[in-house]
Amino acid sequence: MDYKSNKGGGSKVSFERAILDGYAIDGGLYVPEYLPKINLEQLTAWKALSYKELAFQIISLFIKKSIISSDELKELLDQSYDTFEKEEVIPLYPLKSRSQTYIMELFYGPTLSFKDVGMSFLVNLVNFFLERKNEHLSIIVATTGDTGPAAAHYIAGKSQLDGWILYPKGLITSEQERQMTTLPHTNIHSVGVDNCPEGGDDLDVVIAQLYSEQEFKNKHKLSSVNSLNWGRIMVQMVHYFYGYFQVASRVGDPVSFSVPSGGFGNLCAGGLARKMGLPIKHLLIANNQNACLHRIFDKGVFSKQPIIETLSSAIDILVPINFWRYLYFCVEGDTQKIKKWSDTFEKNGEVNFDNTTQKQYQEGFLSKSVDDPKIIVTMQQILDNEHYLLDPHAAVSLVASDLMKDQLGNHPLICLATAHPAKFPRTIELLSQTNKVYGQTKHISIEQAKKKRQRNYTCDHSSLYETLKNAMEVNWERKYKFH
Ligand SMILES: *Cc1c(COP(=O)(O)O)cnc(C)c1O
Repeated sequence: MDYKSNKGGGSKVSFERAILDGYAIDGGLYVPEYLPKINLEQLTAWKALSYKELAFQIISLFIKKSIISSDELKELLDQSYDTFEKEEVIPLYPLKSRSQTYIMELFYGPTLSFKDVGMSFLVNLVNFFLERKNEHLSIIVATTGDTGPAAAHYIAGKSQLDGWILYPKGLITSEQERQMTTLPHTNIHSVGVDNCPEGGDDLDVVIAQLYSEQEFKNKHKLSSVNSLNWGRIMVQMVHYFYGYFQVASRVGDPVSFSVPSGGFGNLCAGGLARKMGLPIKHLLIANNQNACLHRIFDKGVFSKQPIIETLSSAIDILVPINFWRYLYFCVEGDTQKIKKWSDTFEKNGEVNFDNTTQKQYQEGFLSKSVDDPKIIVTMQQILDNEHYLLDPHAAVSLVASDLMKDQLGNHPLICLATAHPAKFPRTIELLSQTNKVYGQTKHISIEQAKKKRQRNYTCDHSSLYETLKNAMEVNWERKYKFH
């Protein structure tokens, strides 16, 4: 299987190129040239597989054997998911106070968010390709809180990689900050950036600027492992299949998912899993008050509005970049249209989709935007009723599904829990009776990080571009000049 840009520029590339480049040459997102279809018989045969076995089957569909052999793929999956705390990798918790409702716990990786699910495999894969070619890459990551820690954790100590991890100072929790700044490895460079009124989006602007300078980009071999990288989306399909098999009594029965969403990477994967043949009934887009996706699906308007700081800070995202990738598959791969719309968005900050297009992408999706007071009420209620602690993002998905109960209908529902509650102590402080869930309010890795020395740099947004460029040059001189 080869890959191409969803905006139609450049020529087809191999899976390896798509993963190592991150972005396509025309600034578009890589998409596979076709989506494999899976019939019910095949699905039935997969029903009893473990998470890793299932991942092997699904990922194999997207990679030629000549690029990665079966043994190599299995080894990469072991290397990635053996770092998870639970044998099942992503366990499901059946709620007692809602019928047929399950919380999918995607947070048992080393940095306690669902970003570990995609990042573990992607970073290991990138390093695998680079080792084989004896090449080096610099990875720049902008984070809204969880991408940075996951990227830093998996890049740390990797021979072929340097990680430049940028975060908006003050807009992420100190627990998240510590996960990035207490790693002792010299290939991790974490930078807290002051004055980012638009959060992670402000950082993306600077990264895009660096990427656009061909000479600099080639010398430092810049790449990206954020969710514009196809590798992340591909891996995230696995948890939809896995969850489906756990809760459907018969393969073919309807199951719905509620997903706390910001960049639409997770839901793009869910939408593609359905297009491949997984019988998902509804995908519920659970937005917080930064409701860009809700506006797209409800009103047909893709527009950028000022950021609102919420308790579910990892989804305080203004531009859901993976919507463009999903849209490509909804308009029969019409790259001209994707290019036209995304150019319009860049220019005007807004696109209005026509009715036909709206119908095409809305199919199978519901959406809801929820506010913080409801989050707290629901977290408290689940804590009181069943001594289970949701993190604020999981709460967004549950609140949205409560509000959309009638539209969702009567069949199993999986709410994705994308972070461990221990990452959000300031939210937990707003709750009462937390002694009942003491074991869930703390996590050993967070506690240990409190004792470690921090190694961080700060920089003002206005000088980030220059500072980053200089620091990368210095690092390059020191490490690679004489190699
Ligand atoms: C990144 C993240 C999300 C959102 O995922 P998208 O793919 O950007 O929609 C949700 N919850 C948490 C905790 C996250 O870190």
